Amino acid sequence: MNLDFLNDKQREGVVTTEGPVLILAGAGSGKTRVLTHRVAYLIEQGVMPYNIMAITFTNKAAREMRERIDNIVGFGSDGVWVATFHASCVRILRRFCENLGQGYSSNFTIYDTDDCKTLMKEVCKYLQIDTKQFKERTFLNVISDAKNKLIGPEEFTNRAMGDFNMSRQATVYREYQARLRQNNAFDFDDLIMKTVELLRLDGDVRAYYNDKFKYIMVDEYQDTNAAQFELVRLLTGGAQNLCVVGDDDQSIYKFRGADIYNILNFEQHFPAAHVIKLEQNYRSTGNILEAANSVIANNEGRKEKALWTEAEDGDKIQFQQFDSAYEEASFIASNIGALVRKGEADYKDCAVLYRTNAQSRLIEEKMIYEGIPYKIVGGVNFYSRKEIKDVLAYLKTVDNGSDDIAVQRIINIPKRGIGATTITKVSDFARERGLNFYEALLHCEEVPSIGKAATKIQGFTSLIEKLRQIAQEESVSALVEEILDQTDYVAELKAEGTDEAKARIENIDELLTKAVAYEKDARDDGEEPTLSGFLEDVALVADIDSYEESDNYVVLMTLHGAKGLEFPRVYMAGMEDGLFPGQAAIFDGGGADSELEEERRLAYVGITRAREHLTMTAARMRMVRGETAFHKISRFVKEIPEELVKGNLWEPKPMDDYSSTPIGEYSVYQKPSGFGKPFAASTSYGTAGSTAGTGKGSYSASRYSVGSSTTAVANKNGTKIEKSELDYGIGDRVSHIKFKEGTVKDIIDEGRDYEVTVEFDGVGVKKMFASFAKLKKL
Ligand code: ATP
Ligand code: MG
Repeated sequence: MNLDFLNDKQREGVVTTEGPVLILAGAGSGKTRVLTHRVAYLIEQGVMPYNIMAITFTNKAAREMRERIDNIVGFGSDGVWVATFHASCVRILRRFCENLGQGYSSNFTIYDTDDCKTLMKEVCKYLQIDTKQFKERTFLNVISDAKNKLIGPEEFTNRAMGDFNMSRQATVYREYQARLRQNNAFDFDDLIMKTVELLRLDGDVRAYYNDKFKYIMVDEYQDTNAAQFELVRLLTGGAQNLCVVGDDDQSIYKFRGADIYNILNFEQHFPAAHVIKLEQNYRSTGNILEAANSVIANNEGRKEKALWTEAEDGDKIQFQQFDSAYEEASFIASNIGALVRKGEADYKDCAVLYRTNAQSRLIEEKMIYEGIPYKIVGGVNFYSRKEIKDVLAYLKTVDNGSDDIAVQRIINIPKRGIGATTITKVSDFARERGLNFYEALLHCEEVPSIGKAATKIQGFTSLIEKLRQIAQEESVSALVEEILDQTDYVAELKAEGTDEAKARIENIDELLTKAVAYEKDARDDGEEPTLSGFLEDVALVADIDSYEESDNYVVLMTLHGAKGLEFPRVYMAGMEDGLFPGQAAIFDGGGADSELEEERRLAYVGITRAREHLTMTAARMRMVRGETAFHKISRFVKEIPEELVKGNLWEPKPMDDYSSTPIGEYSVYQKPSGFGKPFAASTSYGTAGSTAGTGKGSYSASRYSVGSSTTAVANKNGTKIEKSELDYGIGDRVSHIKFKEGTVKDIIDEGRDYEVTVEFDGVGVKKMFASFAKLKKL
């Protein structure tokens, strides 16, 4: 193999195949590249592909890794086990979960967040817990946290001794876990915990995997939690041919239980560890790298690293502060639009990163408005949509009737007149007899005082049985079509005829596409496609998977989602204290464990995604739950040395100095031709939509005002933009949905919207945008 494309240290990482190896290195230094080359090298050295395991953090990373290995090896890489932690555990459990001796069988279901919530609701109801006082969400978090630390219900109960609150949690945990087992289901955290349990319990299974996985590699090791660490330890046999790569500065999953000390203390866990540091960055320009280094240097609890690059300094980091989040979003969209029109960039070169999912909506709207193709990665997941969940519940029921939640979800879809009382009766009967819900349905005539409902139930069960028959003979996609047919699901949506119904049909079509694609992929991998296989595939699709590199669109994603990726142009939006870092982090203490340091690592991750151009933006004013919040520029921006930044951070500068876009190009509010629908139609934000048709010139006033003290004046007086007039004025009494009645104190014309100040009776003064506030004159 040609190792010329690696530097000395990288090569060392590739060829040091025996014993534990820690590659600790900063962003963009080629860690992932070393891993892929290492796999290829091992194969070349005669190691059998099936003796190699590479664990990645996301499905996308797994796919990319496989592609990269394919590229180097050419062929023979199929046998390499490349998968995420969760996917790996699913495979192990499918094979051996019966050895746990707890009644799980290999066709188990994987519960997603919604399923878990539904289950928790049932648990709380059964235990008569007042969920107004004790939230289901909190119980789920406590349980997840415990599982990530490998604390099972029994140990949790022991620890809870004498603590009233914890004892309640322990009771919930025990019941929740018992029901999961009854339903033959695992939640996401179980996948890891139960695999660890299995490997600890069953020496033979452990020996089997120790023998199988002679070489184990883990990417993004800094984000492993205690359970994942234990899993890796158990899988690694005596030879300890374990190579982990990571960057303590990029540990950003503490909220999921990631333990940064797994990497900081690797040498203690594996005393024979060979430690390699990579210091040359191949990804970013000099200025971007220096900015990243300067920001992360403010963290205390870290291993010192000195990243350098041979690359040119490149562009300065562009920073822009805007008056409002609208303007911020407009700027990003129009800036990208202009760059593409000028041929300086492709859509796919650009990524917009933000701290919270909620920020995406505005940016999305502006993208639509500018006619820019984009894709949201994360946010509302395709698989969380109602129609998709319905179809999947049918599939789960057909596949494995032991999933009570799936069965109950669809028992009345379409409406069969089976009421809540009947469902309760059947549930009680099921519990008494030790049956699952579906089994109880099959015996419904024995349910006390079931009456006429029995016939309706039998209608349902005979449909499921019929579908099971079909599932034996037909493909997954054919089964889906059969379900849609038998339930009139699509027909009803068609009859409804609304836009929403149409969108639902499109989603269902997409699910069919997915089923067909799954079948093809499975066959290509030499596997027989099965319904269980399809459901598993679906359950494991992380949001990030909707991002396909080959297509040409701008990517919108959270900073967390961007880990490991790189883009020529990166926009980091919402660089504001109070948002990023968030309010809670600001008041947290110091040290590697602190939230502020975690947020700073996230900033470091964001900055280091950029190869050539980095733009950071902030808004002075942002609507949070319909209320105005005023934000200062993020401390992370200010931690970048001034000379590396151009923009309006320190003093207002003439426009041409801080924008690479000529004025004429900056047509934020110009509607692209052919874009027929008024923008306002999309959601409740009426503001920008009502400006449709406004020319470039009218906006330039507020554009020039960015960052200067004349902003307000220019906005108030300089803009002539059509927008719906207010039917109230200063001094009028108005009503608001939340704050009830009040008196209008001030109205400022903000260009595309009015900022209205209202003194609400008994509430106080609130500033709000008219289009949000929906104030009614009294
Ligand atoms: P992150 O910390 O963000 O996960 P990383 O350390 O895994 O980054 P890679 O993604 O492996 O870094 O590499 C970053 C970029 O540098 C990639 O585009 C990669 O192809 C390139 N690169 C890495 N090593 C070299 C090298 N020796 N010569 C040329 N390019 C390299
Ligand atoms: Mg990487």
